[in-house]
Order: sequence, then structure tokens, then C-alpha cells
Amino acid sequence: MSPVNLLDFDLDGLAAHCQTLGEKRFRAVQLFRWIHQKGAADFGQMSDLAKSLRDKLAGSAVIRPLALLSEQASTDGTIKWLFDVGNGDAVETVFIPEDDRGTLCVSSQAGCAVGCRFCSTGHQGFSRNLSTGEIVAQLWFAEHHLRQRLGLAAGERAISNVVMMGMGEPLQNYAALVPALRTMLDDHGYGLSRRRVTVSTSGVVPMIDRLREDCPVALAVSLHAPNDALRDQLVPLNRKYPLAELLQACRRYLASAPRDFITFEYCMLDGVNDDPEQARELIALVHGPRAEQRVPCKLNLIPFNPFPASGLKRSPRERVMAFARQLQEAGIVTTVRKTRGDDIDAACGQLAGEVQDRTRVHKRMTRPVIRIEPSTQDLT
Ligand code: SAH
Ligand code: SF4
Repeated sequence: MSPVNLLDFDLDGLAAHCQTLGEKRFRAVQLFRWIHQKGAADFGQMSDLAKSLRDKLAGSAVIRPLALLSEQASTDGTIKWLFDVGNGDAVETVFIPEDDRGTLCVSSQAGCAVGCRFCSTGHQGFSRNLSTGEIVAQLWFAEHHLRQRLGLAAGERAISNVVMMGMGEPLQNYAALVPALRTMLDDHGYGLSRRRVTVSTSGVVPMIDRLREDCPVALAVSLHAPNDALRDQLVPLNRKYPLAELLQACRRYLASAPRDFITFEYCMLDGVNDDPEQARELIALVHGPRAEQRVPCKLNLIPFNPFPASGLKRSPRERVMAFARQLQEAGIVTTVRKTRGDDIDAACGQLAGEVQDRTRVHKRMTRPVIRIEPSTQDLT
């Protein structure tokens, strides 16, 4: 039998596993702390665990790290790691240091089946879901590697925030995602605040509802268009869950969310979604026809990060700023995301890893649907 990977368990899962070994919950807590707080990968290190338990674990379990393929460091301090996840697939994880925080951008899938037009991961197609252990291993590696590298004192943390904004659609890998989130939040694990763990989704409506029940964390929704006609083209999942349903799910989510707003992400594409009329439409959309239909939100404008074969261009800076001003004047808190790590292709939407496409997504993408002239019928 192949050994169990203990990174696959949240604390309750580990306690259940320990029970099968005849061990009490407090042993699972000790073990969990060794793994996640101290970064131990070797049962021999776990000095306060009984020798008999260490022996049992050594024969049946492992703490399986991801195989590191490469590391790239940007001039702005951003670090991107590429991990081998087997069978020709590789995923990327990005560390983004700022003065007051350290953010880790984590991948949830090898590739992505949603196939957004402006996303390099989407263009690659989909291979498979990552396991909980593979999601958690990205944080486990980054936290403990950075603590050493940055020479942090005992008790200091390298990573204060996690954003599920790497490769993949986290809400299409729900079963693996939730235990991973719980491990991030657990005081015996990484102890991250719910407000500092963000799930970003292209809008898988039923799973937004489940996340609200199972593990509410901060929610970011990738909007990118103010109407269904355009969003259908940019984010194909919109055909299944159109904007009205998505916004209703956002409102429901806020009832249990750790923050009192949803972050809407909006990737600024030259001549596609950056027109003043589209800003007006976007304002009307989030304000809703009636006050009770308003979605409390922040808008995060992301200047498009180009990649070969996208056929799209970044909106000029003045246009992004004018769009932002229009939203702000309508009372919507709006930020323009600083591009980080673009010299190493680590910026939003540039993560491509290596994916063996097992779908036809890539093939579909080669059909030119989007034209960048604002007047084309396709876009209005
Ligand atoms: N699948 C999830 C999370 C991963 S993508 C989602 O779509 O939300 C993280 C963010 O980067 C999303 O808002 C996504 O729309 C945005 N993004 C994707 N490609 C981009 C690109 N080329 N330039 C800028 N942002 C991009
Ligand atoms: Fe998938 Fe998100 Fe990229 Fe869309 S933007 S293809 S949902 S990773």
C-alpha cells in the first residue's frame, strides 16, 4: 500500500487518521504542529512524539513535498516557483512581498477548464485537479523556505496572506480546496486570518454557496465584463452562471463572509471592456436596480498582462485611470492593481506552468472570437 500523505489532511482529518492508528486527538495536534508550524518532513525530528507513534508513522505515512523544478526572482522581490506534479504537469506558486505583508499566490489545478480568453492558464487547457496535499505543499514549502532565507526569528511568519489566484479555478476543485483552506486557517497550522485568505473565482455559483457554509473566507470574483454578451465571450462559464445569478450568489455570500464586501476583479483589455459606456454599465450592474440589490464591493482593475497568442492588448494607462475615476465618482472603492513580477512572467494571468491538455480547451481557443475593435458586433 502506498503511504498516506499527511499534507492531505486538515486537523480533523489527521485526528481521524491518528484514531485508526489507536492515537488520541492531542497526538494529531502535536503532529500537525510539527508539520505545519515547524516545517518538519521527518518523523525522527518530532522529539515529543512517542517513539512507538513515530515508528508507526514511518511505516505508513509521508509528508510529501512537491518537486521543485525552478525558481525565478523578479527585480521587485517577487519569487516564482515551478513545481513538478507528475505526468508532465507543472504548476506555479508566486510570493509577493510588500512592506506590511507577504502574499502567496497558490495554484489549485494543473491548467484550467474554464478557458478565459485573456488568461494564459486558460489557453493551456486542463490536465487535472491538485490534491489537498499538493495545494498545501505550496504554502508549506514557501513558508518554511522563506523563513530560512529571510532569516526570520522564531515565531515570525513569512506569509501573512494567501490568494487562490494561481493556476486553476479553485471552486472547480472544491473537495480538495476546503481542507487546504482549513489547514491555512487553523491555529495549529498556519493561523491565517479568514480575511487574509482569498478565494478567487470566475463564478461557479453553487460552489460560492457551499463555500459560504463550509469555510467562509474573503471572496474575489473575476467579473471582467459589465454584461452577459461580453462576459459570455471572455469567461465562458458565464453561459452557465450568468451575471444576475452570480451577483445574487455574491450577496448571499456576504451574509457569512469575513469581510463586508466582495472584491470584483476586472482585467482591462484595450478596446474590449474599457469604454466609458462600459464603466457606466458596470456601475449600474453592481448598484442594482434597487438599493437592496446593490452588491457591497471593491473593484480591482487589473491591467491585462499580455502573453503570446492572446491576441489582446493592455488598455493604455490613461484609459485605466479614467475608468477607475468614473467608478470612484459613483462611490465604488476602486484600485488599480500594481503589476508585480512581470519580468519573470509571474503577474496575474501569466502563470502557465506545464500542462498536458486533456481537454479540447486549447483547440477552442485558437478560434478567433474576440476582435479588439470596440465597434465589432461580437463585443456589444
Ligand atoms: N480561476 C480564478 C483564479 C485564478 S486567475 C479566477 O479566474 O478568478 C486570478 C486572476 O487573474 C483572475 O481575476 C483572472 O481573471 C486574472 N487574470 C487572468 N489572466 C490575466 C491576464 N492575462 N492579465 C491580467 N489578469 C489576468
Ligand atoms: Fe481559469 Fe481563472 Fe484563468 Fe479563467 S482566469 S482560465 S477561471 S485560471
